[in-house]
Amino acid sequence: MKGEVLSKRLFRAGTVIFEGGDVGDCAYVIERGRVEVATSYNGAKTILGVMGPGEILGDMAIIDDEPRSASAIAMDDTVLTVITPEQVTTRLQEADPVLRLLLMATLERYRNELRRFQGGNEARGGDEARPGKQRALLTQDIIASSQQTAIDKFKLESDLRGAVANDEFHLYYQPIISLDGDRVAGFEALIRWIHPERGFVNPGEFIAVAEETALMVPIGQWVLRQACTDLKQFNALASAAGSSPIFVSVNVSGRQFASGTFLDDLRTSLASTGVNPAQVKLEITESLLMNYVEAHDWIREASEQGVQIALDDFGTGYSSLSYLLHFPIDTLKIDRAFVEHMHEEARSSSLVAAIVNMAHTLSFDVVAEGIEEEEQSTALAAMGCEYAQGYRYARPMPVEDAINFLESRSAS
Ligand code: C2E
Ligand code: CA
Ligand code: CA
Repeated sequence: MKGEVLSKRLFRAGTVIFEGGDVGDCAYVIERGRVEVATSYNGAKTILGVMGPGEILGDMAIIDDEPRSASAIAMDDTVLTVITPEQVTTRLQEADPVLRLLLMATLERYRNELRRFQGGNEARGGDEARPGKQRALLTQDIIASSQQTAIDKFKLESDLRGAVANDEFHLYYQPIISLDGDRVAGFEALIRWIHPERGFVNPGEFIAVAEETALMVPIGQWVLRQACTDLKQFNALASAAGSSPIFVSVNVSGRQFASGTFLDDLRTSLASTGVNPAQVKLEITESLLMNYVEAHDWIREASEQGVQIALDDFGTGYSSLSYLLHFPIDTLKIDRAFVEHMHEEARSSSLVAAIVNMAHTLSFDVVAEGIEEEEQSTALAAMGCEYAQGYRYARPMPVEDAINFLESRSAS
């Protein structure tokens, strides 16, 4: 049987499928028949169980490459579908390290129990490398790195849990500049986490972890509330200087929308701070539109509350143009990747011009992101792009600095 790649195998009643101690080269799903799983205890056979159709057999050995821990005998004529290690490898390697760690810990505990029951060696403490174990799907290297990543992730998650309560989050603001006249049209609110020991934690790192858990919901609520509070301050200043009101752009993730409380949270934040909803813009990404079928309803309802909707990072995702038709979008934000080379490459520049034109045809305004060079702003202004955002104007900064920035721009 060895070496053959058969997707199904038939075992006649009474034949041995595998024996304890065999090298495990595959697992099985029972299609038809019954299988008795047994081990020996003090030299006597002990039946561990009888398995039937739909159950999985021999799976442990293909995960950790330890020898088979029990024997399996066909009780009836039995048909088994073969699961090869290759079918499991990629899935296992791509799985969340936390799940990999839990799987290994459970497997190890079960094997130890079984060894103790069989009256064999004392349970092994660690999971030391065994010669010939190179074929294991979870090699020692993978286990060690999973363990570290999983532990880091657990720690990050538990620190993140306390961060809202401990006031460790801050909102930074990056100005969005109106290209006709260099006026501050608004600010994008960008979250920062300053952890008492870790120091500054990159949003790229913790937003992903927060989204995997439900933590994005309270974090998002805090962002929304804080951004509305700060917007009031910005607009008090703008009004005192006789300038037109400015907007604040808030990033919203699919997790938040899916929580079911987002629309209420939005209503509460708007009402309790008294800001004009038209001056709040929600930035959503194409992946949110793709991954949540309910996105259309959420966005329409948010839009009915009077807030504006911006499609963020346009051009980096799937850029299905049908989104542009079916969602109530006010603003298109062209990703940095598109504007990055426009002052060096004619093709890049033509593409940006085409996107700006398309957006205008659909009555959206356009923000170009990641502007670092003066040539980029000049070219974008010539294309009729309304707004620009990037290090050329300012990096994201704390609210006090944003206020100073606004004051200095209003004065000039
Ligand atoms: P994003 O929404 O695309 O934000 C723009 C990112 O580009 C920001 O990174 C900003 O600092 C950076 N950036 C702005 N101008 C330039 C430039 O001229 N050159 C370069 N190289 N980069 C520039 P940041 O602050 O690290 O945020 C990263 C991402 O984290 C954001 O990407 C956003 O997706 C997410 N994020 C930040 N705050 C929040 C939040 O409150 N909620 C949610 N859901 N996501 C957030
Ligand atoms: Ca954004
Ligand atoms: Ca963006």
